[in-house]
Amino acid sequence: MDLKTPLTYVKGIGPARAAMLEVKGLVTVEDLLGYFPFRYEDRSNMKPIAQLAPGEMATVIADVRSTKLSGFRQRNLGLFEARFSDSSRAILLAKWFHGGYLAKVLAEGMKVALFGKVEFDSYSGELTMMHPEFEILTGDEEDGEAGLHTGRIVPIYEAVSKVTTRVLRTLTHRVLETIAPLEDNLPEGLRARLKLPDLWTATREAHFPSPGADLRLWNGFRAPAQFRLIFEEFFWLECGIALKRSRARTLPGIAFRIDDPIREKVKAMLPFKPTAAQKRVIKEIADDMKEPRPMNRLLQGDVGSGKTIVAAEAAVIAIENGFQVAVLAPTEILATQHGLYFKQVLSKLGYVVALLTGSFSSREKTQLKKLVAGGLAHIVVGTHALLEKDVEFHRLGLAIIDEQHRFGVMQRLTLTQKGTHPDVLVMTATPIPRTLAMTLYGDLDVSVIDELPPGRKPIITKHVTDDHVEQAYSFMQRQIEEGRQAYVVYPVIEESETQAMKAAQKMYEHLSREVFPNFSVGLMHGRLGADEKEDIMRRFKDGRIQIMVSTTVVEVGVDVPNASVMVIEQAERFGLAQMHQLRGRVGRGAAQSYCILVTEKMNDASRERIRTLVDTTDGFRIAEMDLRLRGPGEFFGTKQAGLPSLRVANILRDTEILELARREALDFVAHPPSPDDLKRAVAYIRECWQRRYGLVMVG
Ligand code: ADP
Ligand code: MG
Repeated sequence: MDLKTPLTYVKGIGPARAAMLEVKGLVTVEDLLGYFPFRYEDRSNMKPIAQLAPGEMATVIADVRSTKLSGFRQRNLGLFEARFSDSSRAILLAKWFHGGYLAKVLAEGMKVALFGKVEFDSYSGELTMMHPEFEILTGDEEDGEAGLHTGRIVPIYEAVSKVTTRVLRTLTHRVLETIAPLEDNLPEGLRARLKLPDLWTATREAHFPSPGADLRLWNGFRAPAQFRLIFEEFFWLECGIALKRSRARTLPGIAFRIDDPIREKVKAMLPFKPTAAQKRVIKEIADDMKEPRPMNRLLQGDVGSGKTIVAAEAAVIAIENGFQVAVLAPTEILATQHGLYFKQVLSKLGYVVALLTGSFSSREKTQLKKLVAGGLAHIVVGTHALLEKDVEFHRLGLAIIDEQHRFGVMQRLTLTQKGTHPDVLVMTATPIPRTLAMTLYGDLDVSVIDELPPGRKPIITKHVTDDHVEQAYSFMQRQIEEGRQAYVVYPVIEESETQAMKAAQKMYEHLSREVFPNFSVGLMHGRLGADEKEDIMRRFKDGRIQIMVSTTVVEVGVDVPNASVMVIEQAERFGLAQMHQLRGRVGRGAAQSYCILVTEKMNDASRERIRTLVDTTDGFRIAEMDLRLRGPGEFFGTKQAGLPSLRVANILRDTEILELARREALDFVAHPPSPDDLKRAVAYIRECWQRRYGLVMVG
C-alpha cells in the first residue's frame, strides 16, 4: 500500500463506502491521510464507575449488565438503555434515543469502553451518560484497534455522508498501521531551521496525538504537527506561484515608450488633479509598462477611490504607442458607463472609443468588430461579448479588466490571448490583505489606492424597518428638493431576475405615481435593451431623472456624483460586499450622502451585516467581516476565480503561517540550496500539487 493506492483496497472500504468518500474527493490513501480532524477530544480521563462525579467527561471500561429497548416500532427508533458495571460494583446507565439499532450491537456480557458526560438522572437516581461514544472491547473483529476511540486524545472528523467519524478514525488508523513511513519532501535545511517535525511524524500525530498533548493547542490548529502541515501546504503553493511568476517574467512583452509628449497627453486628458495615491499607482503602472515583459498588475482601491481615471492614463500610454486597449466590465451598465466616460475623456485626444455589449444587434456587432479588427477603434469597452471568438484586434497592447472578481482566470486568459502578451491591468474594489491578494491572484503585482479624492464626506448610513419606510421617502424628498438625486434598489434573487424586475416595476409605478408624483422617476433593470439602458443612464447623469428605481444592475461602477441618497429595500437579502458596493454609488461628490437600509424580516446573520454597514464605511473592515461571515469559498467565488483548494490550511485562520511560507518560498526559489534542490521541488510540485492548486503553468 502506498499513497496512490485506491481506497477500495483498504480493508473495510467496499464499493458503497468508496462511493460516499469519493463525493468528498477522497479516492486514494493520500486523500484519506490528508483528511484531518477538525477537532480533538480528550477521552483519557479513565475512571472506575464508583468514582464518577456528575458533570465531568470521563471514560469508563465496563461490562454490559442488561439492555432494554422501549417505544420501538420502526427500526432505529425508540429508546435504547443499557446498564454497565465494573470492578467497583457501581452501576452506570447509558441511554440512546433512536437507538433501536443498538439492540443488535450491545449484548449482555460484552466488555465496552464508554466515553461521555456523566449526569445524575434524578428520575431513577442513577449515574447516567446520554449518547456516550462507545467501543466494544470483546470479540476480535476490531482486533488491534481497541482503545482507538476512548482512553486517549481522540480525533473528531467531519462525517462523510454515512461514513461516521468513528469509521473514519478506524480506517485512518488502519492505513497508518499498514503504510510505509512517508517520505518528506520539504527541503531539509528549511525544516531544521524552522524546527518542523517530519512529514511522517506530523501526519501520524495530527490524526492521533500523543498522550499528554495540549488540547488547546490542537484545537487552535497550532500543535507543531498541524503547523508543519499547514506550512507545507502554503509553502508549495507559494513556490508554485513564484515559479509561475518568474516564468511569466521571461515572456517577451511590449516595452512601451513613455516620453514627454506622451506625459503631456496624459496631463491634457485629466479632468481633475489626481490624488497622491493615484499619482503613485500610475507611476507603478507606467514603470511596469516600460518593461519588455508583460505587465500583470492588480489595482486595488475602495469604491469611489478613482480607479477609472488611472486606467484611462494607462490607456493613453498604450494608444500613443500605437496599440489598442480593451476594457472588460462585468455588467452592461458598467460597460456602457465606461464607454461614455472614456469617450468623454479620450475624445479630446482624438481617439475612437467603441462599445460592444451583448444586446447590440448582430449588424451593429459586425460593424464594430470590423472597426476593432481593422485597428480603427483605439479603445474597445465591453462586456463578456468582448470575449467572443470573432472579436479580433488589430494590435491589442493593454487589457483592462474592471471588477475583476466577477471574472474567472480563464476569461482573463481569453481576453489577453487576443493580443501577443499584452499588458494586463485588473481592477478590484475588494480590499484584501496583500499576502492574500498575491496568493489568490498568484502572478499579479499589486498597486493600492489608499486615499479618496478630496472633499469626500463619509456616507451616513441608517437602518429603518419597512413599516417606517415613509421616513426614508420624506428624507429623499427633502434631498431632491435641494437638488440631489436618489437610487432605490431592489434585490435580485439569483433564480429570478424576472421577479426582481417585476418588483422593481411595481415599486417604480408606486413611487412615480403615489409617492413622488412631482419628481421624475426612472426604472433600470437587466432586461432593458442596451439603448434603453444607455438612455436612462444618460438622463440620470444629466439630472433629468431624479430618482432611479433599479435592480442590482447598478451595483458596480455606476458613477453619478450628484446622487446623494441610496435606499436599499429588503436589505436583509443582500450580502455585505454587495451593499458596500451599492452604497458606493453615492458619496461621489462634495455633498453629504446617505444610505438607508430598509428591512423586512431579519435573522441573526442579516442583523450582523446591517450593523456592520451602519457602523463603518471602511471597505477593509467590511471585507474582513464579509470573509468571516461567508467563509473564503463563498467570498472569493469559485475555484475558477483562482482560489486553491487547501486541505489543512485556512487562509483566514492561518494568515501568519501563510506569510511565513511565502517569505520562505520566495527565498527558496530565488536562492535554492543547490540547483538540484530546485529541480526536485519543481518536479514535486508538478507531480503532487499542480492539479490541486490549479497552477496550470508551472515550470
Ligand atoms: P472607482 O474606484 O470606484 O472605480 P471611480 O473611478 O468611478 O471610482 O471614481 C469615483 C468618482 O470620483 C468619479 O466621479 C471620478 O470622476 C471622481 N474622481 C476620481 N479621482 C478624482 C480626483 N483625483 N479628484 C476629484 N474627483 C475624482
Ligand atoms: Mg469602478
